[in-house]
Amino acid sequence: DGLLSGTERLTGAVTGTVSEAFFEPVLRLGVTGLSGAGKTVFITALVHNMMNRARMGQMQAVASDRIAAAYLQPQPDDMLPRFDYETHLAALTAPTPHWPESTRAVSELRLSFRLRPGGMFGALTGARVLHLDIIDYPGEWLLDLALMERSYRAWADDTLARIDHRPAARDYLDRARAIDPDTRHDEPLAQDLAARFTTYLQAARRQGFADVTPGRFLLPGDLAGSPVLTFAPLPASGPSRRGTLLREMERRFEAYKARVVQPFFRDHFARIDRQVVLVDALDAIHHGPQAVEMLGRTMSEVLSAFRPGRNAWLSRLLMGRRVERILFAATKADHLHHTQHARLTALVEALLRQSRDRADFAGACTAAMSIAALRATVEETRRQGADSFDCVRGRLLDGGRQAAFYPGELPDDPARLLAPGRTGGEGWLDGDYRIMRFAPAALSLRPGEGLPHIRLDRAAEFLFGDRLA
Ligand code: GDP
Repeated sequence: DGLLSGTERLTGAVTGTVSEAFFEPVLRLGVTGLSGAGKTVFITALVHNMMNRARMGQMQAVASDRIAAAYLQPQPDDMLPRFDYETHLAALTAPTPHWPESTRAVSELRLSFRLRPGGMFGALTGARVLHLDIIDYPGEWLLDLALMERSYRAWADDTLARIDHRPAARDYLDRARAIDPDTRHDEPLAQDLAARFTTYLQAARRQGFADVTPGRFLLPGDLAGSPVLTFAPLPASGPSRRGTLLREMERRFEAYKARVVQPFFRDHFARIDRQVVLVDALDAIHHGPQAVEMLGRTMSEVLSAFRPGRNAWLSRLLMGRRVERILFAATKADHLHHTQHARLTALVEALLRQSRDRADFAGACTAAMSIAALRATVEETRRQGADSFDCVRGRLLDGGRQAAFYPGELPDDPARLLAPGRTGGEGWLDGDYRIMRFAPAALSLRPGEGLPHIRLDRAAEFLFGDRLA
C-alpha cells in the first residue's frame, strides 16, 4: 500500500500480452457550483485545453513537456450519463459560437494522460498513464447534505421560520397556512403545495439565497413529477396521524433522503479526490453586499460538506476518505479588465478565509482564484476627456454586434464588501455590468491551439498538476 496513496483506486488493466497487467491510477475531479456558475463551460474548455496544450503554459507538466498525449476514453461508470463534451465544444466553436446547455444533473467524462517518464526512476518505469475522471454535478445537490441528519419536522420548522419574511415566499406560506395538515392526503393538494414551494425556491435562487433545499426541486432531472419530489414544509404542532397529508409529507421527505440524497453522496460525492467549486462572484458583487454575504454563506455550507467529522452520517459514508484539494474559482473574470482581477481574487480569498473560519475547516488544501474558463472579450482603454476607462470588448449575445463596456469598479479592500450586517447597494460594478452579456468570441483555431481563457492553466495546476509531474 505504501506506494499508492489512498486516492488511487486501482484499475487493473491488461494490455498487450495477458501477463502484462499493470495498475493505472485514477484521480476523480469533482466540478460543482450553483446553476449558471459556469461548470459546463469550465469542463469543456479544460478538456479541450488539456488535449491541445498550447495555452496551458502555467502547468509544470506542460512546461516540462511531460504529457505525451491526452485523450478521451470510455468512462468507468456505465450507469452515469457521459458529459457531452463534443456537443458543448461544437457550440463554443461554431461559426457563430453560442453557449452550451448548462448542467442539469450529474455526468462524467474520463480524460486520460500518457506521461513521459521523468525523475529518478523514469528510465525504469517507462511511460505512465493517469486517468482523470471529471464529475460534473449541481451545487444545489450538495446543499442537500444539510437534510440528512434532520427530521421532516425540524427541516419544516426551520425552513418556515427562515422564509417567513421573504416576499417571494408569500404565496406559498399563505397557501400552506390555510390548510389543515391533518386533512386526508390528497395528491392534487400535495402537488399544488410542492409546485408553489418550488416556485419560491426558484425565486430565492435568482435572488441569491443559498438555503434552497431540497436541491432536486430546482434541478429534478428525471425525477420531475415523482412523489419523492412532491412534498413541502407544512406548519404543524402535534405528531402526524395515519392517512393525513402531514404523514405523507413526512414519508416523502424520508424517501427523498434515502432514495435521492443518499445515493448521490454515496455513489459520486464520496469518491471525489479533488474538487473545484465555481462561484459567480461578479454577479453577487453586482447585486450588492447582501448577495456577497449570501455567497459567503454558501461557500461555508459547501466547505462543511467537505469537512470530515462534521456530519456523522457523512463520516460513516466516507470511511476516512477525504478530498485533498478544494479550489474556489470566481468565474467569468473576462468581464473585467485585468487591472481589476487582483481585487476579484482578493475578495474570493477573503470569502474563503471567512468560510474556513465559519465552517471550522482545516485539513484539505484550499485555494481561491479568479478565472475565465472561456475568454469572450479583449481589453480596450477608452479616453473621455482627461479620464481613461479600462474596458472589455466582445460580441453581444443579443444581436451579435461588437461593443466595448466599462463594468465599473471593485472595492480595493474586500472588507468594504464583507463588513457584517451591511445592507443596501454599495455601488460596486454599477457601470455597464448589468447589460454586459457576451457571446463566445468567434475563433479561428489553428490545430493544437486550444480555447482562450484566463488562468485556467493555474486552476488545473492546483487541481491535478502534481499528479502529472
Ligand atoms: P452551469 O450551469 O454551471 O453548467 O453553467 P454554464 O457553464 O452553462 O455557464 C452559464 C453561463 O455563464 C454561460 O452560458 C455563459 O453565458 C456564462 N459563462 C460561463 N463561463 C464563462 C466564461 O468563462 N466567460 C464568460 N464571459 N461567460 C461565461
